Amino acid sequence: MAACSTGADTVLTGGLVWTGAPLSTEIAPSAVAVRGGRITAVGTDEEILRLAGSRTRRIDLGGRRVVPGLMDSHTHFISGGFELAGVQLRDAATPEEFARRIGAFAAAHPGEWVTGGTWDHELWGGELPRRSWIDSLTGDTPVFVSRLDGHMGLANTRALELAGVTAQTPDPPGGTIVRDAAGEPTGVLKDEAQSLVYAAIPEPSEAELDRALDAAVAHALERGVTMVGDMGTWAGHETYRRALAAGRLPMRVYSVVPIATWRRLADYVEREGTGDERLFWGGVKGFVDGSLGSTTAWFYQPYDDEPSTTGLMVTDTAELRRAALAADAAGFQLVVHAIGDRANDWLLDVFAEARRQNGARDRRARIEHAQHLSAESIRRIASEGVVVSMQPYHAIDDGRWAVKRIGPERVRWMYAFRDLLDAGAHVAFGSDWTVAPIDPLWGIYAAATRRTTDGANPEGWVPEQKISVAEALAAYTMGSAYAVHREDVLGSLEPGKLADLVVLSDDILTIDPVAIEGVRVDLTMVGGEVVFERRK
Ligand SMILES: [Zn+2]
Repeated sequence: MAACSTGADTVLTGGLVWTGAPLSTEIAPSAVAVRGGRITAVGTDEEILRLAGSRTRRIDLGGRRVVPGLMDSHTHFISGGFELAGVQLRDAATPEEFARRIGAFAAAHPGEWVTGGTWDHELWGGELPRRSWIDSLTGDTPVFVSRLDGHMGLANTRALELAGVTAQTPDPPGGTIVRDAAGEPTGVLKDEAQSLVYAAIPEPSEAELDRALDAAVAHALERGVTMVGDMGTWAGHETYRRALAAGRLPMRVYSVVPIATWRRLADYVEREGTGDERLFWGGVKGFVDGSLGSTTAWFYQPYDDEPSTTGLMVTDTAELRRAALAADAAGFQLVVHAIGDRANDWLLDVFAEARRQNGARDRRARIEHAQHLSAESIRRIASEGVVVSMQPYHAIDDGRWAVKRIGPERVRWMYAFRDLLDAGAHVAFGSDWTVAPIDPLWGIYAAATRRTTDGANPEGWVPEQKISVAEALAAYTMGSAYAVHREDVLGSLEPGKLADLVVLSDDILTIDPVAIEGVRVDLTMVGGEVVFERRK
């Protein structure tokens, strides 16, 4: 048994404990003791029960599997909370259903902006939606609903009017206003063009932000998520600080702000430090390119189904490079979105330049998504100490239609989990919620089975990139802890570490990975507190 003190607050016994650390004994542990918010011991029932006193809470695991708290490296967390309260289009499978739901929501909230959505036009064959589908159902209620990847949205006519977007409006840099044959906007705005409408949407109030956060937290804890990385905003950051001050933040958050605001972050850190174990910050988020779904990911070769384009850089690359080098010099972690093979290579070059220019340091620069790589970029990621923050659910989602977009050769390097782990890369997992569901169990299922969501690939899509359930769990725990410089206190169940853990309804390490679909989270603990427990 490994232990560092006695007199437990809580003991969990009679289970199967996956500690996420190399086993120090021959006997697999069945029990955990917690005191003062930390793990004090992991061992056999007999050993752990010796640490229990009269005031100790005893949790009988009944043979269930315990794993470390699941850490989602990449979310849009507060937007997620707003989405829980917005129109639900994720599974709208026909244009009629898409329009019907928007119309019904608008009728229930007349005059209020209808946002959220997470629609997926691939569900009805790939035709982009048009404002004409929804105008008659929404009237004067402005609508701007987003594709699930956030890289395009559909506005109705009222929203375009409020935003001042007309046939005469030029495409902004890094964005596209989709137009019909007559040059009129169809309502779809891609990437930076979305800002035209966002600018017309009123800012949410503090009370609305607080409610969105509460909804997101409850949603996450029920799914075993004990920490999120939030690719967020300053308004979101202040929302976390309010929640923490009010004792309403029952999970951990790494709050990442936009890279363009790195100077503001520098001033802020000087005044406020970088947070604590509950809420911490010090990363800046940038974007190199768009997404595969919106054909805006940046490749060397054109898209097979849109040969006129190789994608687009979302940001002015010279400006992004300058901001990245400056933010790195200020000591911040670079957290940068790159999807296409060319975007990833470009970003690796910027990280290399940061090392040369700003000197050696344990910087753990992060590529968010790292969706399309080459053998050479995988080698560089591993040897240059770059962290890849990846979202396995995207593989089984984008895998439905990726071949038509980029052909059979390039998809072999898409979400190359196996090759990255074999190369020794630091891999962290997450969901990219709201682009994908936040459930880590679905992410683990996706990484281990690679069965696409349409059921078309029962043996796995690009099956040579599958990894084991234990490897996927490691990426969701130690991998994600490493990605936020917290592997000393999070990511595994070891004495002295913070007591974040999850009890699962079935043993995902021994069942067929395909059956993980049916596994639920029964209990979530953060810092020794039970913050979610499924009612029997
Ligand atoms: Zn994202």
